[in-house]
Amino acid sequence: MRAVKLTSPSTVTLEETPVPEPGPGEIRVKVAGAGLCHSDLHLIGMGDAWPAFGITLGHEGAGYVDALGSGVTGHDIGAPVIVNLLWSCGDCRACVEGRDNACEVAGGRDDFPTTPGISLNGSMADYVIAPARHVLPLGDIDPVGAGPLTDAGLTPMHAINSVRRRLTPGATVVILGIGGLGHVGLQIVKAISAARVIAIDNDEKKLAHAAELGADLTFAPGPDTAAQILELTGGYGADVVLDFVGVQPTVDTAAAVIAPEGLVRLVGLGGGTFPMRAVGLAPWGVDVQRSYGGTRSDLLEVLALAAAGKIRIDYTTYPLEDFQRAIDDLHDGRVIGRAVLVP
Ligand SMILES: [Zn+2]
Ligand SMILES: [Zn+2]
Repeated sequence: MRAVKLTSPSTVTLEETPVPEPGPGEIRVKVAGAGLCHSDLHLIGMGDAWPAFGITLGHEGAGYVDALGSGVTGHDIGAPVIVNLLWSCGDCRACVEGRDNACEVAGGRDDFPTTPGISLNGSMADYVIAPARHVLPLGDIDPVGAGPLTDAGLTPMHAINSVRRRLTPGATVVILGIGGLGHVGLQIVKAISAARVIAIDNDEKKLAHAAELGADLTFAPGPDTAAQILELTGGYGADVVLDFVGVQPTVDTAAAVIAPEGLVRLVGLGGGTFPMRAVGLAPWGVDVQRSYGGTRSDLLEVLALAAAGKIRIDYTTYPLEDFQRAIDDLHDGRVIGRAVLVP
């Protein structure tokens, strides 16, 4: 089969490899579509620091059940499925408490749980192997474009579930970055709340996309961004800021507009630093969280919202062998929503 692999620093190639056999408790999924994420660009750009050369990329995979390993029950060959982003153990204290994105066994203090396409072979291939527990039914959702639900959907869902208490009518939510995650996060906020959404992006096409998806206000960032948002909230600030970019200018905007006791969720891996100390810099009570991935429950909620037609992934497909064009388009900001590789 064909597989898109990160083989050496900054080098991605399409390789021919044997079709993998599912081991006990595993499922082989015939991939229908695999999302390309900014995290993939991050891995490709890590150079020598990347510890797993040779693995197949792709942490957003969906497709059809193709073969069952021994002991697997409850799955039908040919059924459409999605592969969970985070392969938590399911049994440790964190998992049992429903914090499986912070699994004590598969992850750690500095590491996230096992992730296909990052820790081991992912979905940018004809087939992917996954533990049966982490292969979830898609029902009527088309698997070609469903893969991104497991990161571009799941990750905003988790961040948003942690701010639900502030999504009251009249609340203001600022969303920074309307790319793969941002375009879904915006839809989730609108689907589950009556909050006002202000979408910010420096690309006019992405702002138009945000407006189409229901953003109440859209604007490009500039020197007056923070003042404009404060004015829109009577000087009080935004209840919630979801930063799907995470570079210093977006983090600075978050700090400048967050309301007292407001909730900031830093999701994008841009490397910005949020200014905070015991006294000053941020308003009293501000709650900042580095938000990573999501729980199994968050994923089930994303799938339910998608099945109900309340959220969707907007995507452009590329043949698997055109992976480099997809990477270049994402890198250069030409992708609206998600790029999906189709084997
Ligand atoms: Zn990702
Ligand atoms: Zn666990």
